Amino acid sequence: MRLLLLAPPGAGKGTQGERLARRFGVPHIAAGDLLRAEARGATAHGRQVAAYQERGDLVPDEIVFDVLTPAVVEAAARGGYILDGFPRTLSQATAAAELGGRLGVTLDAAVCLYAPDATLTRRLLARASQGGRTDDTGAVIRHRLQLFATATGPLVGYYQKRGILVAVDADEPADSVTAEILARLSDVPLATARDMPAGREGSAAP
Ligand code: ADP
Repeated sequence: MRLLLLAPPGAGKGTQGERLARRFGVPHIAAGDLLRAEARGATAHGRQVAAYQERGDLVPDEIVFDVLTPAVVEAAARGGYILDGFPRTLSQATAAAELGGRLGVTLDAAVCLYAPDATLTRRLLARASQGGRTDDTGAVIRHRLQLFATATGPLVGYYQKRGILVAVDADEPADSVTAEILARLSDVPLATARDMPAGREGSAAP
């Protein structure tokens, strides 16, 4: 299973990503987590990533690719992945599609989780009150939601055109959201590197 999760902050990407990874027996590759691990490193690179994350800004593509590519390439070779939080911009999606083309792998589905901003903000503030992340403050949450709408929103149309978009209402309890995603995915024909050459109509890389 090769799947990506396209969802705003607070929609439950992390929770659903972990569950889907367990269900399909593939790694959960969370862009935000890998970048946070990079940010903890005492290197110039790490400090730069930390600054972007604290402001809720997108980390530059070059760094994102450096950090994510090895994990994606390895998982692709082993049979799949749940990509969480990547790609997040059209330029990342295009570059990811090129990488997928080179690796000869296609994407099975892009799962879009949607919920009203009020729900997302409420969840993130609740996480902050339980000692959550430093970017879960009112102002940074607003900025992240805005960036999601402007930079990541266009990806919904991008994957819809490729016929692989699965949109699920995430303003429901986590278990219902998981059940709905799995029900919707059961209709999705699974691509494999062997039976779906890159470029087939309705398919998308990576
Ligand atoms: P959320 O979706 O709640 O903001 P994530 O853990 O997915 O949480 O992302 C946290 C931060 O990591 C983002 O605000 C951004 O700074 C950085 N980040 C994650 N994924 C990407 C990406 N694909 N491109 C650029 N920056 C990213």
